[in-house]
Amino acid sequence: MPSEHKDIDGVPDTASEDGHGEYDVIIVGAGAAGIGVGIAIAHAGIESLLIVDRETVGHSFSSWPDETRFITPSFPSNSIGMLDLNSIAIGISPAFSMKVEHPTGKEYAEHLRDISEFFELPIREKTDVMNIEKIEGLFHLVTKEETLLAKNVIWAAGEYQYPLLDGFAGSELCRHTSTVPSYNKLEGDDFLIIGGYESGIDAAVHLSNMNKKVRLFDLNAPWLEETSDPSVALSTFSFERMNNTSFEQNTKLFPNTPVKSVSVEDGVYVLKTQDGQTFSSTTQPLLAGGFSGSHKFVSHLFDEREDGFPELNESDESTVVPGMFLCGPSVRHDGHIFCFIFKFRQRFAIVAQAIASSLDIPTDEFVEAYKSWGMYLDDLSCCGQECLTC
Ligand SMILES: Cc1cc2nc3c(=O)[nH]c(=O)nc-3n(C[C@H](O)[C@H](O)[C@H](O)COP(=O)(O)OP(=O)(O)OC[C@H]3O[C@@H](n4cnc5c(N)ncnc54)[C@H](O)[C@@H]3O)c2cc1C
Repeated sequence: MPSEHKDIDGVPDTASEDGHGEYDVIIVGAGAAGIGVGIAIAHAGIESLLIVDRETVGHSFSSWPDETRFITPSFPSNSIGMLDLNSIAIGISPAFSMKVEHPTGKEYAEHLRDISEFFELPIREKTDVMNIEKIEGLFHLVTKEETLLAKNVIWAAGEYQYPLLDGFAGSELCRHTSTVPSYNKLEGDDFLIIGGYESGIDAAVHLSNMNKKVRLFDLNAPWLEETSDPSVALSTFSFERMNNTSFEQNTKLFPNTPVKSVSVEDGVYVLKTQDGQTFSSTTQPLLAGGFSGSHKFVSHLFDEREDGFPELNESDESTVVPGMFLCGPSVRHDGHIFCFIFKFRQRFAIVAQAIASSLDIPTDEFVEAYKSWGMYLDDLSCCGQECLTC
């Protein structure tokens, strides 16, 4: 643990383009990653910055089902130099400002809006980036209204708005959990859920609490995983909620049961599994199979890893298009998955440092301050360690 925590100065005024309509940095996406890396960019002394979002700040979070809460707890631990797990910036604690341990998506979206205003970030909402090309050393970001120009682009468009909708025959007949505004408002009493990681278990928990019957199928069995890495195994919050009478009485889990197909006839949905079982319900099945991710949208600007994620250099920059960076849950290095806020926030300063250095802005103090707060992870050899089981 760092022995001393460095203060970080306020952020400079940003948003000035250079008079030719060019920004040093444009960040696409004003979610946890875009706002967090925007603050780091400003802290690093980069003044020519613009953040754009197709909707509004925190839109993915505000689209979560009403009942869904953060699985990672917030706690105001900043006073002893440990940043709140759900914080995206030095000095910020969602627990302290919201007085909630497991915020809802809507609460967290409001938190993101509050800190964007606090840091006076230059944000342009309702600006959908439809294409990005690098032409003669400059990125052209095509939106409906205009083409924005930038020397560097940080792609922080997340996963939530890019759900994974295929995977088996008839998957289009199911409803993805990311389109559910509230589990309380869903019609039906007998739910088939496909996918048993956090979103699927979350859906099962809420439906069970409403006394609905749930049958949940997963390719593997995340609730039986031995690892302590929450990117692979279920969170403590989910285990706690599963250990409850209504869940035990109403939800039946089918581990290691890949779904083969879903069909519908005369209003009855029929789900067949690869091992030959058949289940039926008059309620539309829920798909909780995850997200294909927005990185697919910019795949022409990155080399692809074997697992389909973008290949990144040590600064989270494209290995084929210099100046194109990635922030957020799709960042991968070797086997390390940065899918939670407390993981991917540790790469914001790495990206900000790379861009500041390319603009000849000194970064020593900035890096020292971020390091002292555990917000600068460049040595990945410490990742992947398991917790002791005693
Ligand atoms: C149900 C659920 C529970 C979760 N719980 C937790 C948790 O407890 N703790 C945790 O750390 N993580 C949790 N996560 C993961 C976490 O929500 C994501 O990792 C996080 O939202 C990623 O932030 P982001 O900024 O990358 O993406 P987003 O929050 O999705 O933000 C991306 C932004 O980009 C914008 N955008 C997208 N495409 C474009 C475009 N073409 N042009 C312009 N703008 C665009 C969107 O409007 C959006 O505002 C959870 C995820 C889910 C689905």
